[in-house]
Amino acid sequence: MTAIAVLGSTNMDLVAYVARAPGRGETVTGREFRTVPGGKGANQALAAARAGGEVVMIGAVGTDEYGSRLRTTLEHAGIDTDLLHTVAGPSGTAHVVVDDEGSNAIVVVPGANGTVTALGPGEHAAIAAAGLLLLQLELPLRVVTEAARAARSLGVRTILTPSPVQPLPAELLDAVDLLIPNEHEAAALSGYDDPHAAAQILLRQVPEVVITLGGKGCLYAARGGETVPFPAPEVTAVDTTGAGDTFVGTLAVALGEGRAVPEAVAWASSAAALCVQRPGASSSMPYRSEIDAA
Ligand code: AMP
Repeated sequence: MTAIAVLGSTNMDLVAYVARAPGRGETVTGREFRTVPGGKGANQALAAARAGGEVVMIGAVGTDEYGSRLRTTLEHAGIDTDLLHTVAGPSGTAHVVVDDEGSNAIVVVPGANGTVTALGPGEHAAIAAAGLLLLQLELPLRVVTEAARAARSLGVRTILTPSPVQPLPAELLDAVDLLIPNEHEAAALSGYDDPHAAAQILLRQVPEVVITLGGKGCLYAARGGETVPFPAPEVTAVDTTGAGDTFVGTLAVALGEGRAVPEAVAWASSAAALCVQRPGASSSMPYRSEIDAA
């Protein structure tokens, strides 16, 4: 089995459920509060591990109580956390307010994630030993770029989820093999709202693109080829949180097993469709047996 290295964020999501979000200077009483392990990096790692991947997590947590819980969550999923460093200070947190209409407002405080600014020998060795590297943009751009370039020089396939979306330097995109934006990120990066047009623009910078389209599925495009739509399985969505990370994590597992992109995308779509039918983010990510059964 090809190992998957994930360089990314680990956050504790602090979620308050309210009837209506407060305005500036206002206090409202919430109905419920939950702490949920999250962060795009950790979520992709968890999705890949549940789908049967051998996963190494690279990043940092803080010395607070969230740090140990975040580490334990990943370890219980069988993820190698030797390179998930514990650094003095708070862990990353996401402060989420969810209202009765299901809309949310989020403040992310990077905490320990912000201290991951360069790779050491252990990180380089882990990337070298992996068959795939998963990157997102919740760690400093500098270290994401360093990792992509290291992977490229070692011949390790790199998948980037450009979230939270921001302008990307050419030195990063030049080292990315597969870019997986959602439709909003694809529009922001390409300047085109139409995902087919966006895919063609993005292919000038990376050789392969998958644009995810929520309930409409996704589009796959490679340089010199047709843009191929993959409709999502028709299901009743209850909570789409974590669907994108489930898609990427499971896609990585399938690609790591040597499956061709169309087959891998179809399998990842089944996994993401299972995720949206259950509430929660990490808790709703499916296990391999469920994906295969679907
Ligand atoms: P998104 O990040 O919203 O683009 O969603 C990522 C992936 O999750 C999509 O490409 C689909 O495979 C899956 N997905 C999201 N929403 C739904 C839905 N309502 N029904 C089925 N699959 C979905």
